[in-house]
Order: sequence, then structure tokens, then C-alpha cells
Amino acid sequence: MATDCLFCRVVSGEVPSEKVIETETVVAFRDINPQAPTHVLVIPKRHVASAAELGEEHADELTEIFRVCNAVAKADGVDASGYRIVTNVGRNAGQSVFHLHFHVLGGRPMTWPPG
Ligand code: AMP
Ligand code: ZN
Repeated sequence: MATDCLFCRVVSGEVPSEKVIETETVVAFRDINPQAPTHVLVIPKRHVASAAELGEEHADELTEIFRVCNAVAKADGVDASGYRIVTNVGRNAGQSVFHLHFHVLGGRPMTWPPG
């Protein structure tokens, strides 16, 4: 765990969060500043800074992350209407927390391209 990492502290419980799903390797919790009726962040418990740092050793966690993203959508009832899964990498993409996280957004129509 990186003690100076906000989402590592969410994983440990040191920073409170509204957890939706927790498995052995992954946590899903509600975004503090939701941009849609459903806005949940899905993260690996093990610290990795962004998608740019992913390697073969993360394969199992990635499969689990997408399984949990889909389970979140189902639990929130947005699986039929559709949802967006997005991860920001670096400055130009707007990444503000450097612990890998996938946004699951749903519950309203979304536009493309994103801003
Ligand atoms: P990004 O800008 O892609 O790095 O996304 C970071 C997200 O984390 C933003 O949508 C923030 O609203 C969210 N966020 C920041 N701090 C917290 C927190 N303590 N609990 C839940 N979500 C948070
Ligand atoms: Zn971390």
C-alpha cells in the first residue's frame, strides 16, 4: 500500500467511502462528486498508478475489475439502458488520483466525444 495514496486509504478504510461491492482483489465505491445518477469507481486493491502501468501480472485483477463494473451496473439497474466505463490516464485526460480507477457512469444519456 502507498500510504500517501488516497485510494489505497479508501481500500484500507482509513478514508471513508460508500462501498458498493468488495471482492478479494477489487473495491467499487461511489464517486464523491457524481457526474451521473450512477457514478461508481472500481479499483484494484493493489496499488497501480494508472492503466499505463499495467502488465501481464495484472491480468486477473483486470478481469475481476470488468466483472465488478458489470455487476455494479446491474445492481444499480442501468445494465439494460447502458453505461460507460472510462479510465483517465495522465494530465491531458484529467486524471486527478494516481491509483488506477475505472469510472462506471449510467442512468442518463451520454454524449460523445467527451469534453
Ligand atoms: P480522475 O479525475 O479520473 O482521476 O477521477 C478521480 C475521481 O475520484 C473524481 O471523479 C473524484 O470525484 C473522485 N474522488 C476523489 N476523492 C474521492 C473520495 N474520497 N471518495 C470518492 N471519490 C473520490
Ligand atoms: Zn494507491
